[in-house]
Amino acid sequence: MREPVLVIMAAGMGSRFGGLKQIAPVDDQNQIIIDFSLYDAWKAGFRKVVFIIKKEIEADFREVIGDRMEKYFEVKYVFQEVDKVPEGYAVPEGRTKPWGTGHAIACARDAVDGPFAVLNADDYYGTAAMQTIFDFLKEERAANEHAMVGYNLINTVTESGYVSRGVCEVKDGYLQSVTERTHIEKRGEHAAYTEDGDNYLHLDGQTIVSMNLWGFQREILDQFVDRFPAFLDENLPKNPLKCEYFLPTVANAQLQEGLGTIRVLPTNDVWYGVTYAEDLQSVVDAVADMKAKKVYPEKLWMEPSAAYHFQLEGAPFSMERYGFGHINATYLLVTTTGRRYILQRISDAFDVEGLMANIAAVTKFTAERATDPRGAMTMVYTLDGKPYYTDETGHYRVYDFVEDSICLQAAETPEDFYESAVAFGAFQQLLNDFPAETLSEPIPNFHNTVDRYRIFHEALEKDVMGRAKDVQDEIAFVLAREEEAGTLQRMRESGELPLRVTHNDTKLNNVMLDAETRKALCVIDLDTVMPGLAAYDFGDSIRFGASTAAEDEKDLSKVKINLDLFRIYTRGFLSACKLTDREIETLHYGAKTMTLECGVRFLTDYLQGDHYFRIHRPEHNLDRCRTQFKLVAEMEQCWDEMAKIVKEEAGR
Ligand code: ADP
Ligand code: MG
Repeated sequence: MREPVLVIMAAGMGSRFGGLKQIAPVDDQNQIIIDFSLYDAWKAGFRKVVFIIKKEIEADFREVIGDRMEKYFEVKYVFQEVDKVPEGYAVPEGRTKPWGTGHAIACARDAVDGPFAVLNADDYYGTAAMQTIFDFLKEERAANEHAMVGYNLINTVTESGYVSRGVCEVKDGYLQSVTERTHIEKRGEHAAYTEDGDNYLHLDGQTIVSMNLWGFQREILDQFVDRFPAFLDENLPKNPLKCEYFLPTVANAQLQEGLGTIRVLPTNDVWYGVTYAEDLQSVVDAVADMKAKKVYPEKLWMEPSAAYHFQLEGAPFSMERYGFGHINATYLLVTTTGRRYILQRISDAFDVEGLMANIAAVTKFTAERATDPRGAMTMVYTLDGKPYYTDETGHYRVYDFVEDSICLQAAETPEDFYESAVAFGAFQQLLNDFPAETLSEPIPNFHNTVDRYRIFHEALEKDVMGRAKDVQDEIAFVLAREEEAGTLQRMRESGELPLRVTHNDTKLNNVMLDAETRKALCVIDLDTVMPGLAAYDFGDSIRFGASTAAEDEKDLSKVKINLDLFRIYTRGFLSACKLTDREIETLHYGAKTMTLECGVRFLTDYLQGDHYFRIHRPEHNLDRCRTQFKLVAEMEQCWDEMAKIVKEEAGR
C-alpha cells in the first residue's frame, strides 16, 4: 500500500515575523497558515508528515505546531543545518544562509519512506490543490513520474509588493521547464516581472506558476543528495555565502536529462501568504470567507483527537457532546461531507478488548443481515482496521449515526413500548444463527441466577453490617424461591433452551425509532451483549417496562404488573423473532426470574453495605429490593394469565 508522505519545509518558518511564536494567527482560534495546510492534507488522506526545521527552532516548533500534530499524524523531524554538506566539503567561512529548498529535501532523504509531497510552511495552498497532489501520489506509478501543482499566476500575486514565483513552461500537461522569476508584480488581471529592477516584461495572468507544491516518487531523493556536490563545485567559487541549491534545479534536471516526467496538475485554488505585513488582512478575510462557506470548520483540530483515527468519510468538521448516556461519553461527529457519526469514549469499567470483539462480531453479523441500512448498528473501524482506538485519554469507538431517528428516554406511549419489543425481538432474530458461545462475558455470570443466590448466601452469612435481623421477611422471600429461581439457568446448562445473543440493557434509550413513523429501527449500546437466553432480554424489559411504579417506589401498593403492557411487549417481541417452543413456553419465567434476581442483587448489596448500586438515601437498596419482590408476588398472582397471554400472542 502506498502511503504518501507530506514533507513541509519549515526551516525558515516565521523568520519574517521575528520567530515562530510571533506568527500572527489568521483567525480567532489562534490558528496559523500551516494549520490549514495540515488540515487540508489530513482531509486529502495524508497521515504521515515530515517537518524540515532548524535545530534551533525545534522547541518552539514543537510548541507552536508539532506536538499538537502528533495526535493526528505520524510525525518525523528532519534538521536542515548549514553544516550538513557532503563529505570533503567545508562550509565557507561566514556562511549562515541555508543551502536552499533542494538541500532541505536532501536532508530529508532517510525520513521519507514513500511517495511524497513537498510544500512551504508559510504558504497556503488550498484544499483542492492538496487533494490533487495526494491523489496523484496514491496511485501506483513508475519511479520517475512526478508532478507539480500549477497555479494561475494571478491567483498567487499580492497587492502589497512583489513576489517570487517559478514560471512554468507546460506542454500537453507536462512541465518542460521552470524559471525562477524573483520579482513579479501584479498589474490588474495580469502581471509583470523584472530582472534588473528597471525593465518590466508582461506576464499573462493565466501563466502557470509553481508554488513549490510538488509530488515526487521516493526514488528522486537520491538525486537531491547526489546532485548537491556538483552544485557546490559550480557555485561555491562564484558565490560562497549566498548560493542556493533550489528544488526546481533538480526538477529541471529531470526534464533536461530525460530522466523523468513532471505532470502539471492545474488548480484554481488561490495562494495566500504573508509576504508583507499588509497581506495579513487579506488572509484573515479569506479564512473568514472560507469558514462562512464551510470549507473549514471554526476549529480545525478538535478533541477528542481519537476522531481522526477512524475511517471516516471526509474530515471532522464539528464535534460535540451528545445524548444522555451515563456510561460512555458520547459525541456527535460531523465531517466535511456532512456524514454524521457517533464517537464514544468507552467507559473504563469494561474490559475493552473482549467487549469490542463482541461488538465487532455482532455488528458485522447484524449489518450483513439487516434489510434496512438503519436496521443494525454499523461500526466504523480505525485507520489500521481495529474496532477501537486508544490514546492517553482512553479507548474510543465510532458508529455510523442512525439518521432520521429518535431515541426516547422512556416509553411515552404503549406503542413506544411495543416498538422497543420489536427492536429487541428483531435484534434476536438477526442473530438467530450467530454462534453465541463465541462471545465473551463482559460481566461474568450476569444472569446466572444460581450464582447470584450463592453470592446472596455469602453476604447473608457474613452479614457485615448486621442488617440481616431487620430484613427477615425479605430474606425468607428470597429463600422460598431459590429452587424455582434456578430453573432457567439449569435449562440453559442442559441445552434445553438454546444459547442466544442477549443485549442485557433493554431500556428504551437504547432503541432507535424512525423519527417520522416512530417505528423500531435498531438497538444500540451493545456494551453488555453476551451469550444468554431470549428470556433474559424479554424478562428484564417486562421487569421495568410493565411495572406500574418506579424501581424505588416506597408505597408498595402502587407496584403492580400491567398485563396490557405485558401483552403488548410479548406481541412486539414475538412478531419480530422466531423462538423455539420451549423458549416460548418459558418466556414468562424470564419476567419473574429477572425481577427476582434483580431484587436479590439489591438485597445482597444492602447486606454488604451498598457498594455496588449507587444509593441516594440510606435504605435505598432495601426499597428497591422490596419493589422487585412485590412485583414478583404480583406476577405469581396472575401467573396462569401471563402464561396464557404468551401462548395467545405466539398463536399457539
Ligand atoms: P451509554 O452507554 O452511555 O448509554 P449509548 O451507546 O446508549 O451510551 O449512547 C448514548 C446516546 O447516544 C443514545 O441514547 C442515543 O441518543 C445516542 N446514540 C448512540 N449511538 C447512536 C447512533 N448510532 N446513532 C444515533 N444516536 C446514537
Ligand atoms: Mg445507552
